[in-house]
Amino acid sequence: MDCIFCNIIKGDIPSHTIYEDDIAKVFLDINPSTNGDLLVIPKKHIVTLLDMDEETLSHLFKVIKKLMPILQEKLHCEGFTLVQNNGYGQEIKHFHIHLTPRYENDLLSHQFNKDLLKPLDEVFDSIQ
Ligand code: AMP
Ligand code: ZN
Repeated sequence: MDCIFCNIIKGDIPSHTIYEDDIAKVFLDINPSTNGDLLVIPKKHIVTLLDMDEETLSHLFKVIKKLMPILQEKLHCEGFTLVQNNGYGQEIKHFHIHLTPRYENDLLSHQFNKDLLKPLDEVFDSIQ
């Protein structure tokens, strides 16, 4: 399959893997936002959260919880931001959670277009 992350799992594409088990793999993002920016992926080829089974999802979060204190100790980061893109905004179509260590003054930001924003009540009504 022509999937970069499946090829990383197979070992056909190199990665800086920091954790691996039968279900999950964790490696450094090749284009990091901060030091130690990681990707947490399932070994199964799953595309979005909608395709994901609860067992695998729960395992990925267990791995994240296990890694957080270790990263805190080794990297001296002050927190973490988790991001998981689905569909639009998802460059690699193999499910992944960005586990990004945070540091004071890292200037990590979430940009958005305020011009597209509708009044809260209008959005609330359309979700109801
Ligand atoms: P997203 O935009 O949420 O799909 O994020 C995909 C992420 O995968 C980006 O942050 C890329 O830098 C990262 N990425 C792409 N190719 C590789 C690779 N070969 N090794 C590690 N990270 C990668
Ligand atoms: Zn894949």
